[in-house]
Amino acid sequence: MKKGFVYLVGAGPGRADLITVRGAEALAAAECVIYDKLANPALLKFAREDVEVVHVPKRIGEGSCTQDEINRVLVEKALAGKTVVRLKGGDPCIFGRASEELAALNAVGVDFEIVPGVTAGVAVASYAGVMLTDRDTSSQVAFITGQEAPGKEETGIDWDLLAKFNGTIVFYMGIGNLDSIARHLIEKGRDAQTPAAVIANATLPTQRVVRASLDKIHAECTRQDVKPPAIVVIGAVAGGDVRFDWFSKRPLFGKTIVVTRDAAGNADFAGRIIKRGGNPLPFAAIRIKPLTDSNEFLAAMARFSDYEWIIFTSSNGVRIFFEALAALGKDARVFGSAKIAAIGSQTADGLAQFGVRADFVPDVFTGKELGRQLIGAANVQGKKILLLRSHIASNELVELLSAAGAQVDNVAVYTAVTEKREPSRLIEGLREGTVNWLTFASPSSVDGFFEQVPAEAVRAGRGKVASIGPVTSERLKQHGVKVDVTAAEHTIDGLLDAIEEIEKRYIN
Ligand code: SAH
Repeated sequence: MKKGFVYLVGAGPGRADLITVRGAEALAAAECVIYDKLANPALLKFAREDVEVVHVPKRIGEGSCTQDEINRVLVEKALAGKTVVRLKGGDPCIFGRASEELAALNAVGVDFEIVPGVTAGVAVASYAGVMLTDRDTSSQVAFITGQEAPGKEETGIDWDLLAKFNGTIVFYMGIGNLDSIARHLIEKGRDAQTPAAVIANATLPTQRVVRASLDKIHAECTRQDVKPPAIVVIGAVAGGDVRFDWFSKRPLFGKTIVVTRDAAGNADFAGRIIKRGGNPLPFAAIRIKPLTDSNEFLAAMARFSDYEWIIFTSSNGVRIFFEALAALGKDARVFGSAKIAAIGSQTADGLAQFGVRADFVPDVFTGKELGRQLIGAANVQGKKILLLRSHIASNELVELLSAAGAQVDNVAVYTAVTEKREPSRLIEGLREGTVNWLTFASPSSVDGFFEQVPAEAVRAGRGKVASIGPVTSERLKQHGVKVDVTAAEHTIDGLLDAIEEIEKRYIN
């Protein structure tokens, strides 16, 4: 039997793309991932789709695991011959009980590799402008666990020394004991006015920073209802330097943005929102259903070489077309000498992923402009054109091309069907004002969304509405919803640019 192997991987401080390259490689190789609450679930995107996932929340309360139970699962999976990734928040060896897990593996002769990660206490420097070291004010840093309550017998923490420590003190797991940590340090002689900062959910769109003097930090955190996970920084540098706080200055920082595409589209959209500092809230209102087993599609495939132009009007259409092509045992050579047009840059990028370069992309990404500009650029009179697109696309493009004398075959490669979702959390977010933006990237998303969420909830809520283009905006208006902004460039990034523009106005 194959021998099991364990990678003990640091997941990084929160944001999924802050894992190391080696960590992502280990995830890609894993047959089983064992991960705890602090590791971002989005990290599973680096793993194989069929990977076995074991959750081991190590917290007090129901549904939690003891360290012994975690060790047991780890050993069991490895002895079953699996390649296992044990994913731990931050760095696996900083307050991570790594030695216990490694000792358990060692005892049964399982080999392992340790992949370091960016530890939370270090990430706060990059993401909250709290430099842990400073040439003038802090030449030393101490990492301390806040779980050992001060005053406990046999404490491993030298509080007298810490009170005198002339540098930066970083407490992990310190939020629950913050009151006694602060009081203890002051009692032992630390100046009550020492700057302190608490950084919760560091590196995530929900990051929060609370600053106060040591004697007030606990009261301030209680007032602002700060919840773990949080890092507590005490020392001169905790005052922070606003010049270095780039993250919270991002226009989308702290903004909750609802995405309503299909699940795969939402995952892509969410990644782009996170890169801009925003907080995506997925509500996949639709599901994309391929129609490539239809006679119509198969007939078009048989006549492929007849077409002068083949037109794609969405990246979904491109992906589904190539999936169908692969299933038929074919590849991009079917295009032969036909020319290829894409409605916009995203569709062209989709084609490029399959090694195909679009011959024509209009400079405004709508069906109407594609038709108008293609007619201007190429002679379509009497030419056969194949449109591969959504079942529910508007007829405008077909009508324009036909009126110019082209013979158009309009073949649906997919349709969008409504995906049932539980809308109550979203409706509550709209009512309470915690949802800042609703985004719509196609008319079918609009229909799917409003089948489940009453338009009144949007009208009465404080969230704004952003649309990818004129056709989608028109559909929103038909549902009685006011559109706050329509993207000038009809792509997902164009949509986010439009939202950023509006948010910037509020900042300035
Ligand atoms: N091995 C982890 C630490 C585990 S102990 C690491 O290297 O980061 C758990 C503590 O880590 C939490 O109580 C909190 O203090 C800190 N922590 C983890 N993720 C955090 C985050 N995103 N923001 C703030 N603190 C975090």
